[in-house]
Amino acid sequence: MAPRKGELTEEEKQLVAVISKGNVQEAVTLLGSKDVRINCLDEHGMTPLMHAAYKGKVEMCNLLLQHGADVNCNEHEHGYTALMFACLSGKKEIVWMMLEAGADTDVVNSVGRTAAQMAAFVGQHDCVTVINNFFPREKLDYYTKPQGLSKEPKLPVKLAGPLHKIITTTNLHPVKIVFLIKENPLLLEPEALKKCSAVLDLICEKCMKQRDMNEILAMKMHYISCIFQKCSSYPPEHTLEPLIKSLLKGRDGDCFPIYQEKFIRESIRKFPYCEATLLQQLVRSIAPVEIGSDPTAFSVLTQAITGQVGFVDAEFCTTCGEKGADKRCSVCKLVIYCGQDCQKLHWFTHKKVCKILKEKREKQELEAAKEKKRQEKLAEKELRSVESSEVPEKVGGENEACKEKEPETPTEGDRATEETVTSASAVETITDPDPQEGAGQ
Ligand SMILES: [Zn+2]
Ligand SMILES: [Zn+2]
Repeated sequence: MAPRKGELTEEEKQLVAVISKGNVQEAVTLLGSKDVRINCLDEHGMTPLMHAAYKGKVEMCNLLLQHGADVNCNEHEHGYTALMFACLSGKKEIVWMMLEAGADTDVVNSVGRTAAQMAAFVGQHDCVTVINNFFPREKLDYYTKPQGLSKEPKLPVKLAGPLHKIITTTNLHPVKIVFLIKENPLLLEPEALKKCSAVLDLICEKCMKQRDMNEILAMKMHYISCIFQKCSSYPPEHTLEPLIKSLLKGRDGDCFPIYQEKFIRESIRKFPYCEATLLQQLVRSIAPVEIGSDPTAFSVLTQAITGQVGFVDAEFCTTCGEKGADKRCSVCKLVIYCGQDCQKLHWFTHKKVCKILKEKREKQELEAAKEKKRQEKLAEKELRSVESSEVPEKVGGENEACKEKEPETPTEGDRATEETVTSASAVETITDPDPQEGAGQ
């Protein structure tokens, strides 16, 4: 019999309490009791799994799922699911775990919000990213079986694993995707690349034509398909090196990767469903931007697909777009990478601007130091003038008063100075953000 709301046994009450504390050992013991039903409901219709998800207890969620907790139980008074509670907790591991356990992403709560929309609403953008990029393996495996009259499956079984890894990636940088393709020799065959591309197009079509249309996933599949397509036009013996170089090659002067920008823009434009809202949004954001200016097509696309807001280039590897890059070019100290391999790969093009960047940075630092000194002197002077104004009026005389007046009223020049100093000192102290951006404003 299905559990009724609010009819918890003593042990079940204990379990809920133990979950909040996160005591896994005690939970294991309680789950062994015959008086504990895994999907019991408290007075609000919350299951133990919902409690664990809401409290952000990763291990506890894992344990409950292992014990057969129903991930899609939908008895909560406001229609919240375990996935929604996971989103509220902001723990993306739990969100992922729920999805792997088969959580339905289309269910809405009593005010009509899906889990992803709820996560976005409460600012848990990493959770939105996880949901938007989740694609169950079974859905891909469908293409590894011959359908209809054909004897051959659309996707050879051996390609399903490596392709699945690529389509669930949250880093959409074209170089990163080429890395992932390169990683697996099976994928490098032109035939394999073409098959993957064709399957991705089919998934894209399905996403657009199904009842719950998913434009985000459709766009992602299409974009990755374009990269596979591009890869298939390169002879396999060079293992895509020439393509990577083309994607990284920067233009003279500022090293902006023109080809990469054009490739991403072109891929978006080729999206076959021109009536799609997402496509129109993307085109509207990208079209007015001159190539080489911000935002880049990559950042616009990433933001649309992963739901990342406040996308800052500085945190991401210049070569492959991996998040959390923290290695700096030791010469210019202005470009960051996720590791040495990426730095080496980028050097052929970065070396043309590295020295210029270095000089620029040094000049900025020098000026910042000068301005700092000037500011200190000014402050000292001001202090003295304050002290002297405390002295009886007559002592200074008219001349002196005039001289003192100057530093007291801040002129345009002074204000500008102040700004330069704050932004320039930010360059020195903050390690991550793009220093150029800070100084440029
Ligand atoms: Zn990298
Ligand atoms: Zn450099």
